[in-house]
Amino acid sequence: MSSYDVVVIGAGPAGNICAYLTAKAGLSTLVVEEHEAAGLFVNCTGIIGVEAFDRFNLPTEPILSSLRTVTFYAPSGHSFRYDPGRPLAHVVSRQQFDHALASLAESEGAHFRYGYHARLIRVDSEAVELKDREEDPEPIRAQVAVIATGFGSNLPLQVGLQGPREIVYGAQAEVEMEDLRDVEIYLGRQVAPEAFAWVVPLQERIARVGLVASKEAPRYFQKLLQHPPIWNRLLTRQPKMLLSPVPTQPIECSYTDRVLVVGEAAGQVKTTTQGGIYYGMLCAALAAQTIEIAAKAGDFRAQVLRRYEQAWTRAISQELKTGLSLRQLFARLSDSQIDALVELGTRDDIIGLVKRLAQFDWHRDLIQTSLNLPALQEVVRGGLW
Ligand SMILES: Cc1cc2nc3c(=O)[nH]c(=O)nc-3n(C[C@H](O)[C@H](O)[C@H](O)COP(=O)(O)OP(=O)(O)OC[C@H]3O[C@@H](n4cnc5c(N)ncnc54)[C@H](O)[C@@H]3O)c2cc1C
Repeated sequence: MSSYDVVVIGAGPAGNICAYLTAKAGLSTLVVEEHEAAGLFVNCTGIIGVEAFDRFNLPTEPILSSLRTVTFYAPSGHSFRYDPGRPLAHVVSRQQFDHALASLAESEGAHFRYGYHARLIRVDSEAVELKDREEDPEPIRAQVAVIATGFGSNLPLQVGLQGPREIVYGAQAEVEMEDLRDVEIYLGRQVAPEAFAWVVPLQERIARVGLVASKEAPRYFQKLLQHPPIWNRLLTRQPKMLLSPVPTQPIECSYTDRVLVVGEAAGQVKTTTQGGIYYGMLCAALAAQTIEIAAKAGDFRAQVLRRYEQAWTRAISQELKTGLSLRQLFARLSDSQIDALVELGTRDDIIGLVKRLAQFDWHRDLIQTSLNLPALQEVVRGGLW
C-alpha cells in the first residue's frame, strides 16, 4: 500500500498547480492521471490571461500566439475591432502546458502515476483511500485527497458532495484557414444563441474555431463553419469537432472530511466566457494553502478544510454571480439588440470606458458600470428591465 500526505486526482492545470504547491511546502504528494501523460485529449482553446502568467510564473514555452486585438462580428455582419494596445492573453498548446505544469510539480518532488483511473474513493478516520477497481490489491492512501478531475467525475458523489448542476457545451475544431489576423468573436442568435463563437489564430493559417451553446452545439457548430466570413476562408472542409460540457455555476460545497474539490470539478469557471484555467489554478492554490494549514495542525476534518471554500468564495464568487447575470441577460437579446450593442462598442466614450475597466480575467467592474449606462439600458430595454 502506498501512503502520501496528499493525493491529487487529475493532472490538469488545477491539479498540477495544487501538487506543485503542496510538494513545495514539503508534503509528500502523488498525482494520479487516467491518461498516459498530462494534457492528452483536451478540448480547449488554451487562452490564458497575462495575469495568470505573472501570478504563477507560468512556463512560456507552450505559448503558440498572443491575443492582442479582437474583432466582434454583429449578426448584421457589421464588425468592430478592439485594440487594447497591449497583449491581453496568450494561447497555449494545452498538451504542452499541462505537461510543463506537471514537470514543475515534479521538480518540487511531486510523484506522478499515469494510466491510473481513480474509480473509488473512501474516507475513514485515519486516511482517504483511492482504488482503481474494487479488488485493487494496492489502494493509495493519503491524509487528504484533492479531486481535480474536470467535469463529470462521480468521485465527489462518493464522498457526499454534489457535482456542478448546470452546464453548457463547448464545440471546437482546429482548422486550416486563410486571412487570420485578430481573434474573431461572432455574436447572434443564428450563430451562437445565448453565447458566442470564436476563431482564435494559433499560427499562420491554423486556428481554433468553436462556440459555446446550451443545446444543439454540434448543429450550431456546423452552421458556424458555413457562416460566410468563416466558410470563405476555411481550407479544412470537414474539421474534426470535439464536444465537451463546461459547468456554468460552482458546486454548493467543495470540501468534506479529508477531501477538497478544485477547478472545473468544482465549477470554478468564468461565467462570462467559460474559461476555467485561471480560476481553477487560483482556487487550487487556495486549496494548497488550506492543506498546509491542516497538515501543520494534523487535522483534516471538514471544519478545518472549510477555510478553502471561504477563501475561494471570497476570491471569485462575486465575479461568477455578476457574469452569470450578464449571460442570462444576453441570452434574451434579439439580433437587432445585439447589433445595437456592437454599434455602441464603436463609440469613443465606450471604448475609453472599456480600456479603463476591462481586465481579461475580471469582468465585474466593467459589467456593473456598463449596465448603468443610459445608452446601454436603452438598447436592452424592451421588457428586459
Ligand atoms: C471548447 C472549449 C474551449 C475552452 N477554452 C478555454 C480557454 O480558452 N481558456 C480557459 O481558461 N478555459 C477554456 N475552457 C475550459 C477549460 O478547458 C477547463 O476549464 C480546464 O481545462 C479545467 O481545468 P481542470 O484542471 O479543472 O480540469 P481538466 O483540465 O479537465 O483536467 C482534469 C484531468 O483529470 C484527469 N482525470 C479525470 N478523471 C480522472 C480520474 N477518475 N482518475 C484520474 N484522472 C482523472 C483528466 O484526464 C484530466 O487530465 C474551454 C473548454 C472547452 C470545452
